[in-house]
Amino acid sequence: MAFSVSSSYAKIRSILDETPNDALPPPSSITRGVESLPAHLPSNGLGEEATEAHLLSDICPGFNGPKTSSNYYGFVTGGVFPIAEVADNIVTAFDQNVQVHLPDQSISTIVEDKALSMLVNLLRLGQGWEGRIFTTGATGSNILGLACGREAVINSRLKAAGEEQGVGELGLLGACAKAGIKEIQVLTTMGHGSLYKAASIVGIGRASVKDIPFSEAEPWRINLDSLEKELKREKEGVVSIVALSAGEVNTGRFATDQSSIKAIRDLCTKYGAWLHADGAFGAFARCLPATDEFSSLLTSSSGLELLDSLTGDAHKMLNVPYDCGFFLTRSSSTLSSVFQNPNAAYLATDSVSIPSPLNIGLENSRRFRALPVYAVLLAYGSAGLAEIFARQVRLARGIAKYLQESNRYELLAQGQDQRGDFSNTHIIVIFRAREEDLNQVLVKKINGTRKMYVSGTKWDGKPAVRVAVSTWKVDVERDLELVKGVLDGVAL
Ligand SMILES: *Cc1c(COP(=O)(O)O)cnc(C)c1O
Repeated sequence: MAFSVSSSYAKIRSILDETPNDALPPPSSITRGVESLPAHLPSNGLGEEATEAHLLSDICPGFNGPKTSSNYYGFVTGGVFPIAEVADNIVTAFDQNVQVHLPDQSISTIVEDKALSMLVNLLRLGQGWEGRIFTTGATGSNILGLACGREAVINSRLKAAGEEQGVGELGLLGACAKAGIKEIQVLTTMGHGSLYKAASIVGIGRASVKDIPFSEAEPWRINLDSLEKELKREKEGVVSIVALSAGEVNTGRFATDQSSIKAIRDLCTKYGAWLHADGAFGAFARCLPATDEFSSLLTSSSGLELLDSLTGDAHKMLNVPYDCGFFLTRSSSTLSSVFQNPNAAYLATDSVSIPSPLNIGLENSRRFRALPVYAVLLAYGSAGLAEIFARQVRLARGIAKYLQESNRYELLAQGQDQRGDFSNTHIIVIFRAREEDLNQVLVKKINGTRKMYVSGTKWDGKPAVRVAVSTWKVDVERDLELVKGVLDGVAL
């Protein structure tokens, strides 16, 4: 009998349906799975049936629960909406290669572009975001952001010096020499690790990423005076890319607000800097219901429409399967200036309305990762997603309130905020145990319950715990009960 993918998929579904809600599998499941791995490549394959059985009964039980558990609060992982899972299986089954726009051969690039324009709508960015591409995640998008920033700030100096070609043609060394540039810096506050990695990849260097915090109490906010001082170094041949943390990953807080982002936009325009923001999860604060409950977050996340470029993740808040991020820029010419793939004749397209992804992004051959995003946006719409995001925020605020009221724990990163209503809490909560001995082992104890999972981090040089709520499965009352139970339990 021929091997049947559909009966196999029914088995996968039943395993998923029977998987407990725990955030982590029992350690023995992982050990057993590891012991079942072959010592080396078999010369005679096991065959499809035996391989399927191995995958289902040895490997699957060893997975952790970002998709299946509503209490996995590590990193910012998201879950998977059922409709996104369906779409992702379609992607695999039909295996479209979304690299060249060939509208008379496949609908895929047209759907991809539609998904991107719907994302621009969802994020309320307005007109002019013609440069847009799906990536593998926010890291990929930050690489695109710094690559575009580098291209734009150097090219404008090259142009002023009468040079026609840009960085994409000349390379970084040649371009900087011709443009009289000595240094490229990236200005940020509490930039995500991937920003430093991106700086290394695009030849700017990790050491050129500079942190300019507003204050010790509010290190996530950017300091406008320091920013202007750094931007003024333009006279000395130092060019800048500003990379705002629009949703800082440890605290969930924003580098700017309504008025400061306008001021920063003006400074960047004045001094010829590129304005990028990493809004991997934070950008979605813009999609929350427009009610008093969320007005602070709507204010903090406002102004992103003034950026030159924006990083976003879809595999976090949008709950599509890994991996999927997106990059948006108002300068499509900069994007193609960096990523132009000198066209082989066989890659030529017959339409210019939608650019071929291979000319505006990192990869040539690419997965059709747009389809799950398209499906989620279509299935829930902006109002449906707003409600789902609202539930996530309510759970995070419920946890923050519990911590604030607890005498065993200390809620961190509250800054100058004396309101005590948690109106600035988005989906991330950071805290520590008041008792230092407990604090040293807190993450281990919480995760040791295997019921819920949190990330360890540092705050003021001391260990701290971070909870990130990003799954669609959130049920505020049920999950708050579980979180309180675990945190009460480990503090005993
Ligand atoms: C998660 C995250 C990243 C990295 O994203 P990946 O999708 O893991 O590549 C970058 N920046 C921020 C703010 C994040 O939350």
